[in-house]
Amino acid sequence: MSEEAWLPVAEPDIGELEERYVLEAVRSGWVSSLGPFVERFERDMARVAGAEHCVAVANGTVALHVTLVAMGVGRGDEVLVPDLTFAATAAAVVHAGATPVLVDVREDDWTIDAELAQRATTSRTKAVIPVHLFGVPADLPALRDAVGAGVRTIEDAAEAHGATIDGRRVGGVADAGCFSFYGNKLVTTGEGGCVTTNDAPLAARVRFLKDHAMSSSRRYFHPEVGWNYRLTNLQAALGCAQIERLDGTLRARAAILGWYREHIEVGLQLRMNPVPSAGRSAVNWLSCVLLPVDADRDAIMGLLRSRGIDSRPFFEPMHSLPPYESCRRVTRDRSVAASLAQRGLCLPSSNKIRERDVARVAECLRYALRL
Ligand SMILES: *Cc1c(COP(=O)(O)O)cnc(C)c1O
Repeated sequence: MSEEAWLPVAEPDIGELEERYVLEAVRSGWVSSLGPFVERFERDMARVAGAEHCVAVANGTVALHVTLVAMGVGRGDEVLVPDLTFAATAAAVVHAGATPVLVDVREDDWTIDAELAQRATTSRTKAVIPVHLFGVPADLPALRDAVGAGVRTIEDAAEAHGATIDGRRVGGVADAGCFSFYGNKLVTTGEGGCVTTNDAPLAARVRFLKDHAMSSSRRYFHPEVGWNYRLTNLQAALGCAQIERLDGTLRARAAILGWYREHIEVGLQLRMNPVPSAGRSAVNWLSCVLLPVDADRDAIMGLLRSRGIDSRPFFEPMHSLPPYESCRRVTRDRSVAASLAQRGLCLPSSNKIRERDVARVAECLRYALRL
């Protein structure tokens, strides 16, 4: 273990504002899912997503699940998901009773390939869930044209709070957007999520389903089976403080990625996070590097760890996971998701990282790769 501080891949940035709001929530007695911070958090997140409506839920996975169900997606339906994502995107489709179809991602921006999505679309395709991976917005206009107006679009914006497409914030561009507020995300509530949309009936349906599907006019009358997918006022209090500080978080993360680009992309000639094509602006959730094809990633991670530097491999492609290996899959001659997943490494990216930390990571990588 080195004497220098441990550099984690991610850590929550919790300050005095968070303490103040959470304490206020605790003292108010509104500790469950009723309370003023929940409403305020929903207004604040609607603004972050540039959407008219926001419904807070318990986490990002159930945000996706309840959105699919609210859209009427279920048994016999197919939903297109990128092959490279966190497994929750595909799991939500299965929870809704529908079948995921795995679409390969683009080499240049790591997000779902619109042309392949078009090839994957059949009469059974009811929805597509583009994932703004690592903060890079997927090309939604191209995707919409590719799949056609009959297919609902749901943004998985769990990693991209504040990114934009044609000047519009992600989460407000597609038919619905789903966010996560897990501890390592750009906004955290500990655990939490939300659904954003400009579709008022959809928002109302999500709100109904996530709260036991209880009639709003007749207490304890449940015309359907719902869920308790609610966010608590305590969690929302944390989230309100986080949103007030989001611009600062995004600035800090952008600066960190800038240093990494200088020290690693330029210095070591290794590709890092994609810069999306015109019209889209990314945020930096995690700073990622693509190692050379012949590099021994596990050995490199071990060496970094021995020097106090945390790192994490990319997500495994969905087609390599037991629940999804038999899913229909659309790719070109070779899987881009597999190639990225094999070479990708996430580097220390918390708000507190300084330029000298980045230089230390770069030096360590240079040594490990004998560059
Ligand atoms: C984090 C994440 C989720 C799931 O969010 P939870 O709040 O952990 O349920 C879904 N999709 C992607 C792409 C994520 O990164």
